[in-house]
Amino acid sequence: MKKFTKLLACVLTAAVMVTAVGCGGNTETTENTETTENTETAGEIVMATNAEFPPYEFREGGEIVGIDVEIAQAIAEKLGYTLKIEDMAFDSIIPAIQSGKADMGLAGMTVTEDRLVNVNFSDSYVTAYQAIIVKADNTDITGPDSLTGKKIGVQLGTTGDIYSSDIEGATVERYSKGFEAVQALEQGKIDAVIIDVEPAKEFAKDNANIKVLDTPFTEEEYAIAIAKDNEELLNSVNEVLKELKESGKFDEIKAKYISE
Ligand code: GLN
Repeated sequence: MKKFTKLLACVLTAAVMVTAVGCGGNTETTENTETTENTETAGEIVMATNAEFPPYEFREGGEIVGIDVEIAQAIAEKLGYTLKIEDMAFDSIIPAIQSGKADMGLAGMTVTEDRLVNVNFSDSYVTAYQAIIVKADNTDITGPDSLTGKKIGVQLGTTGDIYSSDIEGATVERYSKGFEAVQALEQGKIDAVIIDVEPAKEFAKDNANIKVLDTPFTEEEYAIAIAKDNEELLNSVNEVLKELKESGKFDEIKAKYISE
């Protein structure tokens, strides 16, 4: 959390005047103490993300945009920081938070028991689910129950990856980007992709080769990952999230990226 803690610089000027008084060896000491509080500019707050997850974070004209980016921006503004975004592999986000390389992880990240061992999570801001994508002409896979023994593509280290590993007899192919899993599906290398619902819809949009099944695979909650030892930021983030929800700003942000 290199930049979050405000530095309070104290300048202590002590002018010590020693005056010898008289000839009797009497000494008078005067201390002149001046304290200046220097509240330096708050600096940056660093968001770790993986910009391969539309509509939450993706690249548009060289810039990283999306729902999570706007939430992080609002948090930074409310707390008086400049937002800096670090784009990295999804499975590098939690280590980046733990090592202090980043202050908060926003990546459509699901709260799981395993992740809670390493980081804290803010209050949840989205309820999502894992969706199943298949080829448009597939009639064999109709929902979670028909995935037994299939070849499933996922993004490495995501909940799609974790849950797919529990499907009986299934082979799990792990890709570094969700989009690469979708490409493998189109090329017939795998039978289905399990990925979060909104990216699934984004990938299937304008793509007649694939379809998103209606039956959800699992339900989950997205939250912001923060270092275990940074309760202060956790509390501030929760306050801002509450404000964003109550003011309607959060719905506004979502509506900008998700059309129902
Ligand atoms: N919600 C999923 C997870 O937390 C996927 C997130 C992502 O790929 N950015 O694992």
